[in-house]
Amino acid sequence: MEQTRVPHVVLLPYPAYGHIKPMLTLAELFSHAGFRVTFVNTEQYHDRLLGNNDVTGFYKRFPNFRFTSIPDGLPPDNPRFGIYIKDWFCSDKPVSKLAFLQLLMSPGLLPTCIISDSIMSFTIDVAEELNIPIITFRPYSAHCSWSDFHFSKLAEEGELPVTNENFDKPVKCIPGLENFFRNRDLPSICRDGGPDDPILQTFIRDTSATTRASALVINTFNEIEGPIISKLGSRLTKIYTVGPLHALLKSRIQEDSAESSPPESNNCVLSKEDRSCMTWLDSQPSRSVLYVSFGSFIKLGREQILEFWHGMVNSGKRFLWVIRSDLIDGEPGVGPVPVELDQGTKERGCIVSWAPQEEVLAHQAIGGFLTHSGWNSTLESLVAGVPMICWPQIGDQQVNSRCVSEIWKIGLDMKDTCDRSTIENLARDLMDNKRDKIMESTVQIAKMARDAVKEGGSSYRNLEKLIEDIRSMAF
Ligand code: UDP
Repeated sequence: MEQTRVPHVVLLPYPAYGHIKPMLTLAELFSHAGFRVTFVNTEQYHDRLLGNNDVTGFYKRFPNFRFTSIPDGLPPDNPRFGIYIKDWFCSDKPVSKLAFLQLLMSPGLLPTCIISDSIMSFTIDVAEELNIPIITFRPYSAHCSWSDFHFSKLAEEGELPVTNENFDKPVKCIPGLENFFRNRDLPSICRDGGPDDPILQTFIRDTSATTRASALVINTFNEIEGPIISKLGSRLTKIYTVGPLHALLKSRIQEDSAESSPPESNNCVLSKEDRSCMTWLDSQPSRSVLYVSFGSFIKLGREQILEFWHGMVNSGKRFLWVIRSDLIDGEPGVGPVPVELDQGTKERGCIVSWAPQEEVLAHQAIGGFLTHSGWNSTLESLVAGVPMICWPQIGDQQVNSRCVSEIWKIGLDMKDTCDRSTIENLARDLMDNKRDKIMESTVQIAKMARDAVKEGGSSYRNLEKLIEDIRSMAF
């Protein structure tokens, strides 16, 4: 009789929190399925993750899970700031490539399959060299992924860079987006430079390399992006839509706990959470609080912070605001509360440096989310049924805010503006004036997301299929 072999999956995220978090969730889902998992971070993120978590507890729960690291090859004093660490992102990453190759060749580590971030094409070269199946992972929406496939075309047609002059021109050369997207809704890379921009060129190279992989796993679900997912399918061998991953993991843990012990907290975190905001939320009326957070890395100028602060205080709404210690460009923390804002903040505000965001969004006191439209934040809000005010800055955020406001109609887009009266008005619109209409679609879409991750749902089934397909590679 044929012996069952335990599949071993090596996962390698791009070194940014918004990329690591969903891939770690996928890794946990593989562990739940009984796979052996090796999760590879760059050394800096590996140290941060191990420093902030009880990894021993995690390993006890998943004896077949290991965190490990490879160097990024940058000097120790490189600030490694932002999503595109340019020196690294735009190079062939020779140090990481060699280290990854050596890691895979070390005794007992040869994997059944590699799952690597779609903007790490050196892993595809390594997989091909060692003849190991590789699947790429996109922590973005299908709309953003589809836009990425058209960067060359946009450049050829003279549409890049996107500037103030052509901001409002409809995007005609990306099939499926022409009725909803203006140039300003394209990924921010389209604004940054012309056709020769090195980051744009790296994106073009990495996106085209993903067509050499066996498949793509993407953190979205068919019910919200079906037509665009089909278009993406025309470029790729196979697609598994398994999102929203954080909700899929919860759904699987709940299933397990129905059979055995109660669920344990699932996620490893990269920053220490300040849970005092949960106690504050407990004392606020239902759906009264606007949650404000700009994700894990974007920075704001002091003037922008003040515009948001005035806008929120003037709106008269309660607010819970995450001000990371590195949020303000060039200044540590928030500093003293401006005198004119002191009373409004004391009466109606709560400020923390890092919140347990998924729990916050699920709290009954939360009525809206003022977000930078990172894809994880967007999915978390969407699942929790919380409507959004979007203030996108970089990367895929411009795309996400357009989908939220114009396609799914679950929020308002304040793209390319940042003044106190707009913020005040949008806060009132979201929480009062336009709330009923927006809540109709928000409730509907939240249900679709929750159904997708339930037993029998589209993402649930796609994960089963992915697990089955990886198992079949182990023979
Ligand atoms: N997040 C969190 N606490 C905070 C702020 C953010 O846990 O106080 C998490 C949030 O839940 C999300 C992630 O950080 O999963 C941010 O990812 P996203 O893609 O939204 O934005 P990015 O950080 O990549 O810009």
